[in-house]
Amino acid sequence: MKNICLLGATGSIGEQTLDVIKAHDDKFRLTAMTFGKNAEKAAEIIETFKPKYVGVGDEHTYETLKQHSFSYTFKTGIGEEALIEAAVIPEADIVVNALVGSVGLLPTLKAMEHKKTIALANKETLVTAGHIVKEHAQKYDVPLLPVDSEHSAIFQALQGENPKHIKRLIVTASGGSFRDRTRQELEGVTVEEALNHPNWSMGAKITVDSATMMNKGLEVIEAHWLFDLPYDQIDVLLHKESIIHSMVEFHDRSVIAQLGTPDMRVPIQYALSYPERLPFDEAKSLELWEVGQLNFAQADFERFRCLQFAYESGKIGGTMPTVLNAANEEAVAAFLSGRISFLGIEDIIEKALERHQVIAKPSLQEIREVDKDARKFVQTLLT
Ligand code: NAD
Ligand code: MG
Repeated sequence: MKNICLLGATGSIGEQTLDVIKAHDDKFRLTAMTFGKNAEKAAEIIETFKPKYVGVGDEHTYETLKQHSFSYTFKTGIGEEALIEAAVIPEADIVVNALVGSVGLLPTLKAMEHKKTIALANKETLVTAGHIVKEHAQKYDVPLLPVDSEHSAIFQALQGENPKHIKRLIVTASGGSFRDRTRQELEGVTVEEALNHPNWSMGAKITVDSATMMNKGLEVIEAHWLFDLPYDQIDVLLHKESIIHSMVEFHDRSVIAQLGTPDMRVPIQYALSYPERLPFDEAKSLELWEVGQLNFAQADFERFRCLQFAYESGKIGGTMPTVLNAANEEAVAAFLSGRISFLGIEDIIEKALERHQVIAKPSLQEIREVDKDARKFVQTLLT
């Protein structure tokens, strides 16, 4: 039995993780969970899975949760402190980080210090402080397992391989909601249109990130840290069906890909069951004859400027990706609340990057300060 702490239980990855836990309740148990604001959904999860610890996003949501009556008692906590309390709970073997944003950084580091296996969906953690997360994983000797479908695909393709034989990673990209539009056609697109992803149903932030292709940019940085490869060995390939989840090319030109119908529960389950594989009857078998055709195209860096920003920031390194991530989080939130246009997102990120004086090997404290400062700067652009 593996005991699981789930950070971000009410989100898209959170709910799908619960599906996996439910499908294998003889193997996995939810021992701790946190959520942000959705007390109704959280109350249902609590009653169904009976975790021993529940972390709540804020005081107000905690009051709402308290209105519910539960059939058992559990410990609670509030805010960022609760994320850490949950992450270090002694009973848990695995911490699934399904939070959105760089708020996921500290709980990940603390969980590592307590020797927890990390199943990481929260890519912003690796983008904002990749070197610290990697050093921590090595220092405390804990596995850092990818949940993101592309990284899970690469991780699976690398099983039994020697990493020194890798020529390059090919990270596939669906292209998001606006993949068939020209740059001009992106002027004036609405929030509703941006949230309408053709292949995946996900949280709002990552859906907008997919539309700007920042998601792929963040994933390139995530891949750089997870697989310890320079940026010129990480390529992006447009593949609109999301059937090939990513590939690895080796020096002998052999390419290994991982395929499947788009269903995040599959990579989530792989991270939880690793190194074993478990059956998963709820997912649909891939029938390539039904798909018929797979399409590919080169990624266009002028059309998708965020992808360009991500590669550049990644190559510069230090605190540049921290700024990239923080500015993006703020800009996407501003777009979602109707304060800026879709193309305004990349303008804001560009300005934040241009102004930043890079710190080469930042401490955790410096990263937190740069993150805060970049967010503040974006707010000045919004007023
Ligand atoms: P989501 O918005 O659906 O869920 C986020 C969860 O985190 C919610 O439970 C929310 O309450 C909680 N949360 C958010 N901010 C918080 C805060 N400040 N304090 C405490 N809790 C907070 O997001 P998602 O789509 O599930 O994505 C989660 C992460 O997984 C992201 O990093 C995303 O990039 C990554 N990811 C998601 C998918 C997907 O299919 N959804 C696929 C690959 C990677
Ligand atoms: Mg992905």
